[in-house]
Amino acid sequence: MKYYAADVVFPIVGPAIKKGVVAMDDQGVVQGVYNPGEIDDQLIETFKGALIPGFVNTHCHIELSHMVGQLPQHTGLPAFLSAVINERGKHEASLEKAMEEADKTMYKNGIQAVGDHVNSAVSAKVKENSPITYHTFVEVMAVNKDDVATRVDNAKEIEFHFDYKHSSITPHAPYSCSKYLFKTLKKAVSEDNIISIHNQESDEENKLFRYKKGEFLDFFKKMNMNVEDFRAQARNSLQSFLPYIPTKNKLILVHNTYTSIKDLDFVDRMGRKVYFCFCPKANLYIENRVPKIDNFMLGGHEIVIGTDSLASNDTLDILEELKVIHQEFPELDFNETIKWATLNGAKALNLEHELGSLEVGKKPGLVLLEGMDTFKLTPNVKVRRIR
Ligand SMILES: [Zn+2]
Repeated sequence: MKYYAADVVFPIVGPAIKKGVVAMDDQGVVQGVYNPGEIDDQLIETFKGALIPGFVNTHCHIELSHMVGQLPQHTGLPAFLSAVINERGKHEASLEKAMEEADKTMYKNGIQAVGDHVNSAVSAKVKENSPITYHTFVEVMAVNKDDVATRVDNAKEIEFHFDYKHSSITPHAPYSCSKYLFKTLKKAVSEDNIISIHNQESDEENKLFRYKKGEFLDFFKKMNMNVEDFRAQARNSLQSFLPYIPTKNKLILVHNTYTSIKDLDFVDRMGRKVYFCFCPKANLYIENRVPKIDNFMLGGHEIVIGTDSLASNDTLDILEELKVIHQEFPELDFNETIKWATLNGAKALNLEHELGSLEVGKKPGLVLLEGMDTFKLTPNVKVRRIR
């Protein structure tokens, strides 16, 4: 048994403990969390800072890891997507190595689990050999009715390469999926298939759904995508596609940068549980804007955190995402946001029985936030993996 103490311990479940102690066995399974004085001092290894369970990165695309620094910033989403599609094939020789490095970096940065989107099986080997638990989301996209059946079959074939307990098929984004694809998926997936869909990352998406106008039409033209059948919906994208998502499946909506209070009311009225995933650094990279996180908090919505990919971020580091959030919303309480970055993410990915909090029987990893001696997250805080 090993005992670890720090200025403050955040078990996530229950209040933070000043000078708390965490006991872990040789396998890294938590055996107890104690108040100061309950364990003999001589047995304890003491650190300066805060101890937390490993982070959960709820949204990533590890297969874009070779694109770090390749794409211009602040172009807006449609131009960014065009650039990804044009550039991603050019550097493929470095992809394998880039994915391995990304995986190692994430582990070093204290990340214990990742919700990872893919369009192929290239990341299967890296994930199999990793200490990180991955949930792989195989993306499907199709705007033409004729493509739907083949694309769904293809996604199922890709999913076969990943751990069947930790993989699912998911629509990519409202603008890349037709109504017919949503309807087909509703029938094609079982209730335990977690869905994770990009949502309102750009206001152009709302413009497309409301008026069938804007930059997405140019994007479709460039990509030779036929959207003749698509009709303006006179409401935002979220309100248009949500009714087609099966109600019993877990649902993660990613980005939500242009989600309005009306949209949130709509979600509430549908009475379904949604995890809202924020990737603020990627939003700043692409759209130079962050979501109105305070609106989501007012409504008591479940929040989780992701890094998105190295195509739109310079790091895969959940601590850095939290720093941006605290900078943009200084009134936020770290006791709240640390839950988004750990236990909430574990719940969204069906991993809450194994990780996300320092609770007896879980194997959540153990991470030190160096330089954090109060309950405030400052820019100087650094992450260090202990277990
Ligand atoms: Zn993404």
